[in-house]
Amino acid sequence: MLYDISPPISPNLEVWPGDTPPSREVLLDMARGANLTLSTLRSSVHVGAHADAPSHFIEDGPSIDLCPLEDYIGPCEVIRVRVGRGERILPAHLGRAVRAERILLATDTFPDPAAFNEDFAALSPELADALHARGVRLVGLDTPSVDLFDSKDLPAHKALLRRRIAVLEGLVLRAVPDGRYELIALPLPLVGFDGSPVRAVLRSAPL
Ligand SMILES: [Zn+2]
Repeated sequence: MLYDISPPISPNLEVWPGDTPPSREVLLDMARGANLTLSTLRSSVHVGAHADAPSHFIEDGPSIDLCPLEDYIGPCEVIRVRVGRGERILPAHLGRAVRAERILLATDTFPDPAAFNEDFAALSPELADALHARGVRLVGLDTPSVDLFDSKDLPAHKALLRRRIAVLEGLVLRAVPDGRYELIALPLPLVGFDGSPVRAVLRSAPL
């Protein structure tokens, strides 16, 4: 069984305030007599479910085409955390041992991808350190950022990079029960870009 954990990409999907929302320009249209339909997509790369590259927040950091694909595919665990809106997730919120190299944290603090709320929860640098100690190589969140909305120094992004932990943001985990899965969420090889949309899915792990 597959869980699709990517929100639909349409002009209704809200991106970070000031960023470029997705839009479609139709160059050719069969409904208007053309021999085929042909569209141009214009959008922030930080749209919907997406991977951040280190070059998003560190000058001279690797761009998304240079990020190892192995991080974005493989055994994964979904964990619900009880964290308040606007708070950072601490190691204590996890509650139990992590059982996979990839961890997706469901906070339920950004419930509607079509209505941007600024008080979503984020990660703490301490959690990045704790996850690294447990062998984690990727963290994903159901919020638009691993840092809080008002954060300018981005301590969680930087702590994750220091620990070489890859980042997925904008996931939709509402319908996914806690547990172990296979994650497939590959970024596009966008040369020089600071991130990429992904089609993120979870496949139920065979017992
Ligand atoms: Zn991002």
